[in-house]
Formats: sequence, C-alpha cells, structure tokens
Amino acid sequence: MFFKSIRFKIVLWYMGLLTITLLAFSVLVYQNFKNVLYGDLDDLLSSRAGGIASAISTYWEIEEMKNSESGKSSAPATQADTDKFLTMASNWVIEKSKDPSLMSIYAQILDVNGKKLVSSKNAPKIYTLSEDDLDYILEGKDSFDTLKGEAQPGKPIAFRVYTKPVQQDGKIKYLIQVVSAQGLIYIALKGLRILLFVLLPITVIITGIAGAFLARLTLRPVDHMIDTLKKITAENLKLRIHLPDTKDEIKRLADTFNDMIERLDKSFTSQHEFIQDISHELRTPLTILKGELEVTLKKLRSPEEYEAVLNSSLEEIGKMSRVIEDLLALARFDNNQVALEIRRVDLGGVLNRVMDDMKILAQQKDIDTSLSRQDNLILDGDEDQLRRLFVNLFDNAIKYTLRKGKVIVMAQKDGSHIKVVVSDTGIGIPEEELPYIFDRFYQVARARRTNHGFGLGLSIAKSIVESHRGVISVTSQPNQGATFTVSLPLSYPV
Ligand code: ADP
Repeated sequence: MFFKSIRFKIVLWYMGLLTITLLAFSVLVYQNFKNVLYGDLDDLLSSRAGGIASAISTYWEIEEMKNSESGKSSAPATQADTDKFLTMASNWVIEKSKDPSLMSIYAQILDVNGKKLVSSKNAPKIYTLSEDDLDYILEGKDSFDTLKGEAQPGKPIAFRVYTKPVQQDGKIKYLIQVVSAQGLIYIALKGLRILLFVLLPITVIITGIAGAFLARLTLRPVDHMIDTLKKITAENLKLRIHLPDTKDEIKRLADTFNDMIERLDKSFTSQHEFIQDISHELRTPLTILKGELEVTLKKLRSPEEYEAVLNSSLEEIGKMSRVIEDLLALARFDNNQVALEIRRVDLGGVLNRVMDDMKILAQQKDIDTSLSRQDNLILDGDEDQLRRLFVNLFDNAIKYTLRKGKVIVMAQKDGSHIKVVVSDTGIGIPEEELPYIFDRFYQVARARRTNHGFGLGLSIAKSIVESHRGVISVTSQPNQGATFTVSLPLSYPV
C-alpha cells in the first residue's frame, strides 16, 4: 500500500532527481577543482622553469663577457665550453636549492638524450622520459607529464614534471626539468572526493527523510478526507470534510466534495420527502375508499345507496389516478423520456381554446376573464404539452381567486420569444413561499386547506416550459393576486 502511495512516489522522484543533480554538481566541482589545481601547478612549474632558464643564460652571458674581455672566443662552441657551462649551471642549481621559493620544487638539467646532468638538492629520483616524450621535446616544444618517481627509496609516487628545451644558436643545448610532487593535489582531490561522495548520499537520505515528512504533512488532509468519505453513506450524508482554510488545491478538492455531498444530501432528502408525499397523497383517498366500502358492506343496502358509494369510490379512484398520471408525467420529464412532438403551433389559438374551456369554471365563481393577445403568435412546440401548461396556469388562477375576481391573460411577441402573462386578483402567495411553489407537492398552507390539488400542477408546468427551452417566473402580493409569466422561444433550438 505504502509503495503505491503518492507520498512514496513523490519522495522517490525527489530523491532520484536530487541524486542526479548532486552527482552532476559533484562531477563538475571535482573536475573544475582538479583543473584549477593542475593549472596552478603547471603555471608555477613553467614560470619557475622560465626563471631558471633565463637566470642560467644571464649567468652564462656574464661569464662570456668576462671571457671576451680576457680575449677568449664568445661562442661556447668547444666541449670545454660546454662542460664549463654545465658545471656553472649545476652550481647555480645547487646554490638555488636553498631558495625558499623553490622549496617543494626541484630543478634538474638533462642533456639532449634525457640523461640527468645535475639536479637540485634532495631532488627525487624521476623515472626517465619516454622516447616519445623526448622526441616531442626535441622538436623544441615544452611538455607537461605525470611521471613516477621516488622521493624515498622504494616508494614510487607521481610527480608533475615540466620539461623545457633550452636552445642556443638554433640548437637544443640542454633540457630544464622542473618537478613537483603531486601529493598535495592528490590529498586535496581525495579529500574533495570523500567530501562529495560521502556528503551526497547523506544529503540525499536526509532530504529524503525530510521530504517524506513534508509529503506526509502535506497529504495528511487527504488521509482525513479519505477517512471522512469512507464514513459517508446514503443514510449519513450530514458528514462534511473539515480542513483549515488554506485555500490550496486540497482545500478546494475538499470543498468540491462537500458541495457534492450537500447536493446528494438535498437530492436524497427531497426524494425521501417525495416518497412520503406520494404515500400521503395516495393514502388519503385509499382510506376514504376503504372506509366507505367497509361501512357499505356491513349490511344490505338499497341500489341507490350502492350507486352513491360506487360514485364516490370512482371519484377517489379518479383522484388517485390523476396523482399517478401527474407523477408519471414528471418522472418522464426527469428522465428526458418525453418525446416532444415539435410542430408549428398557433399559440394564440391554443390560448383561445384553453380560455374557452376554463370560462365555465370561471363563471361558476363569477370571475371575469379576459384574453388580450397579438395576432400570429406562431412558435415551434408540442401543442398538447403547451395546452396542458396553460390549463394548469389558468386553472390555478381561477382556483385561487375569490368570487367576483379577475383573471387576465396577455400574450405578445418579445424579441425571439413569445411572452404569456397570466395574472389574477386572487389570494396571492406569501413572498417567503415563492421560491418553493414550483417544487413537487408544494402547496401554500392556505391553499392546502381549500383546494383538492396535489401540488404537482406547477411542477409539471415548469417541466413543460423548460423542455421547450423557455422560462417561467412568478410575482405575487398576498391578497392582491399572482402573476405568472411564461417566455417561450419562437423556434425550438435543435
Ligand atoms: P395545486 O394542485 O395545489 O394547485 P400547483 O402545483 O398547481 O398545485 O400549485 C402549487 C401551489 O402554488 C398551490 O398549492 C398554491 O398554494 C400556489 N399557487 C399556484 N397558483 C397560484 C395562484 N394563481 N394564486 C395563488 N397561489 C397559487
């Protein structure tokens, strides 16, 4: 489990990248340091060699001058001159061995065959140059080499050797070799190697542990979320994830989960209420039906009495089947199963016919109805559903208007829509109840007492309007009336 966790993966990646970076860094630092050390030593060696060469030639020139003053030839052409020069150079080297600036640097002079002629005091025994090196130097070029040598007998170590050919009259006369043990460089480089390669794993391990700790700290809210979410079930949707308000991604994720649980909670609660409402709506007529039938069956009745009971039973059954039909209609809208038969519909005609049908109801309550509308109100829609919509609205307007009241319907084009306004002078709806009246089974308390509806009519009306991509809204003042406004698009968007 742990090896599959994000925490483990983050730490692994982190350590991997850190190792690669530190390795690259170490190699760079090491190489650079090495180059600097060798560069410095080589510079020192070559400058010392140059110094020695020029000191020797100055010394020789002075000797020559002395010779010419005493009438001798100026060029050191003879063997005697050469020997004398070498003796002089040898003296010089030995003399200079005491020079503190040459303490750890040894000088030696070789002849053109690579044979050592003279060397400074305590100079290590350097193994001779290879033939290739010698050939190269005899071409007149300087050479840096790392050669084995013995500072103490039987203990070979590496020396840095700079060999410089010295020419006179266009001929290589002798070679100056300046030598330094590489011990210090070795020690410095070894120290650096140990430092880098011990520090590297230690750094990686320490930062890995710190990374694991940080990752644990960062991901702790996720563990908390997992624990909380595990506890959430359909029966336990009141639980929420509580995290400090860090405004980071995890907090946003937790908020999103909380919103989702909130929506699920609402949806479960409303489904629960819905089932309770349905049971309630069906139980009342069933209880009445059952009661009436039981009482009737207690003794023999006259045919008229049976007829009356059957009629009343039919009425209750009618109510139940209306609720069930309405519920079915709503369920179909919910599942998008209502296949609207979209055609060109003359909405004006629909409104006329619904108004005519409703007039009988209105007249029973002495309610004045009026319909004023523009001509040519044609739109794309399902005529049966639109008819049902306006039956529900007109029916409510008449139902909730007291005797001698008014129901006014107006219809007109409004840009790309047709607007139908149904207003009445009825009992109205309290402001605090307005947001709920399109909910299923919602009835304003006052209406619940007086009418025989189920609180489904406006839900169905809303579903019909929305399935036509329209909008329905309501405004109302209690005891002054209610106004329902429906806005339907002229053409049905595909
Ligand atoms: P009902 O079958 O109860 O009429 P509806 O869904 O059609 O169900 O209406 C829901 C509730 O909205 C009604 O119970 C009533 O309280 C309120 N209502 C609807 N239309 C009007 C109106 N024109 N005037 C006053 N109240 C209304």
